[in-house]
Amino acid sequence: MLKIEHLGIAVKNLEKSNELFTKLFGSAPYKMEKVESEGVSTSFFRMGENKIELLEASAVESPIAKFIEKKGEGIHHIAFEVQDINAEMKRLQNEGFTLLSQEPKKGADNKLICFLHPKDSNGVLIELCQEIK
Ligand code: ZN
Repeated sequence: MLKIEHLGIAVKNLEKSNELFTKLFGSAPYKMEKVESEGVSTSFFRMGENKIELLEASAVESPIAKFIEKKGEGIHHIAFEVQDINAEMKRLQNEGFTLLSQEPKKGADNKLICFLHPKDSNGVLIELCQEIK
């Protein structure tokens, strides 16, 4: 893994949270994007090298809706940038981690992504992401 690519925060109301985080960071999101396949609406903030992703459920069965129902709003996942997502998925599977999809999926912000089951990583949901070039 190369570095933390972003932190994902689950929110109930993206519009209100965009206002809140714009005040907090002193700058507006550089991108807003709906990811239909994941049932989420997202926005991205950038501070230098670091990014924060806000995620709001856009469907009832969205994993974000389930997360908020169970745990409330808050930090949802840590995303790590990888050079070769297929190789990293294979490596982690061999190490005993559970992949939540067998193939990389198209995520927000021009990325191929794959989530790892939090049960294998002390309750932390981990996202691998590789920039689509
Ligand atoms: Zn993410």
